[in-house]
Amino acid sequence: MCGIVGYIGKKPAFPILLSGLKRLEYRGYDSYGFCVLNAQNEPFLYKRIGRISDAEKELLDLKVEGNIGEAHTRWATSGAVTNKNAHPHFDCSKNIFLVHNGIIENYQELKEKLIKEGHKFNSECDTEILPHLIEKYFEGNLEEAVRKALREVKGTYGIAVISKKDPQKLVAARFSSPLLLGMGQDETLVASDPTAIITHTRQVINLDDNEIAVINPNNFFILKEKPLVQIEWTPEEAEKGGYPHFMLKEIMEEPEAIENAIRGRVMVEDGSVKLGGLDVIAEKLREINRLILVACGTAHYAAQVGEYMLEEYAGISCEVDIGSEFRYRKPIVDEKTAAIFISQSGETADTLAALREMKKKGILTLGITNVVGSTQARETDAGVYIRSGPEIAVASTKAFLGQLATLAMFTVFLGRQRDMALVMGKRIVSELSKLPELAKKVLKLAPEIEKLAKKYKDFKNFWFIGRKYNFPIALEGALKLKEISYLHAEGIGGGELKHGPLALIDENFPTIAICPSDSVYEKMCSNIEEVKARGGPVIALATEGNEEIKKIADEVIYIPKTLEMLTPILSVIPLHLFAYYMAVLLGKDVDKPRNLAKSIVVE
Ligand code: GLU
Repeated sequence: MCGIVGYIGKKPAFPILLSGLKRLEYRGYDSYGFCVLNAQNEPFLYKRIGRISDAEKELLDLKVEGNIGEAHTRWATSGAVTNKNAHPHFDCSKNIFLVHNGIIENYQELKEKLIKEGHKFNSECDTEILPHLIEKYFEGNLEEAVRKALREVKGTYGIAVISKKDPQKLVAARFSSPLLLGMGQDETLVASDPTAIITHTRQVINLDDNEIAVINPNNFFILKEKPLVQIEWTPEEAEKGGYPHFMLKEIMEEPEAIENAIRGRVMVEDGSVKLGGLDVIAEKLREINRLILVACGTAHYAAQVGEYMLEEYAGISCEVDIGSEFRYRKPIVDEKTAAIFISQSGETADTLAALREMKKKGILTLGITNVVGSTQARETDAGVYIRSGPEIAVASTKAFLGQLATLAMFTVFLGRQRDMALVMGKRIVSELSKLPELAKKVLKLAPEIEKLAKKYKDFKNFWFIGRKYNFPIALEGALKLKEISYLHAEGIGGGELKHGPLALIDENFPTIAICPSDSVYEKMCSNIEEVKARGGPVIALATEGNEEIKKIADEVIYIPKTLEMLTPILSVIPLHLFAYYMAVLLGKDVDKPRNLAKSIVVE
């Protein structure tokens, strides 16, 4: 999620680290920091909240000597956005300096142990346990200490470490988080993303999981022989991971977004989930018998899916409202009501206004957001981070998947506090854990969906229909299409067609019908027949193996089978791809659609 740059060579390290970090900053990080060791092995340590571009002049004026260093732009996952929580983190004796990308899942447990052993912590960040663990094992050889420390760690990491006590060496390691070595003339760079180093070298070695690289000024070794590869991307392409747009990159990251949301939180054996952010209010939640879910735009559709999940499986009465309307109602609440606010940025003004109304009424408030330390995260009583990583494209995609996966976990959490049977809990969490792989399979449909978009790009109007869990997905599919392609699209519940919308159907008005093989499948087929009877083209999204549907739909896109409550997490992916390809084919500015902004901080 964050950005790492490291340097060891003959040139002054600081300007190289600074320019590398600047190249990563487009993703919108919250803080940054550097550590450079000079010829006497004295560290220059600098950590600040904010953006580098705002302090660039001041940074360029700093006289920093030394040819070895590391730098980091943080996108906080644990611990608020403060100078202290920024990286590099260090050990008790300030000998070891480390930058980290990822999440240490067992950091609480390790921290308690280290504190008992006498370690003094300086921040609330999960990363800080790493330099202390390395310090514990340090006997003069840095890579050996890193190797021992990492054996105790659960979670994901890309790290770069330097030490005063084993100088002229940079150690890098990774697990489930990208890290590469850039091989230059008499210099080696370390980076989490090729963007950071592409202006220096294109010769890179990608580290694999569990590998530790030890880099000296003149040579390096990894615990395994690695091939040298050539990066072909331009710097602009590299920023987007080789994709032409951030939106496509982010859609391609949807499996990862599900994975990140559920990592370390689902316990398949116990049929339960662990949401650390709810620990403090877990007892209070037992008393709650009504939930109000408030959000705007795409997050509002996630809330609607959540309503179906929570009512069916947690047995709690729910209502969903949009932030901008909620405040005009006079909602009747009591001490058994809790309100949940969902916002990718955690800064959505309408949602925040609704949150403040509810706080005045004194009820329990919860948040689901992507951005640690955002206003929503600070003002709610408790909450869950979706950990989708920075989302750059204005149209939200991967964060929606993170929200849905989180709501599914929340359902199990509340359900297991109530009447949900162990076997049901197990079923949901085990199916949930399979979703990242299934989502990858759905993404393979991209070429097929691009072809479909070519066929339908000249139509001006679209219906999206769905029922039950996939009714909100029809709304999301339509919103995504209209916001980036500027075509007219509307989402409706399949049952609503006959109450008016059917009047518009003709051969120029296609309908996208989301009809997996679930409890409302037959009803959806009837709706498709209604459209066909009036000459409307139909694109159906159906479950793999359903051949029957071909008889009534003009086109069929197949998604893998999963639990009914989880189908939205798969069915929305082809709709995101469809909107994307339509907008590209129509020549629209996909990442920055006209008239829209990423986080809506005005009411
Ligand atoms: N978990 C670390 C933190 O909260 C690293 C986050 C990142 O990847 O930027 O600081």
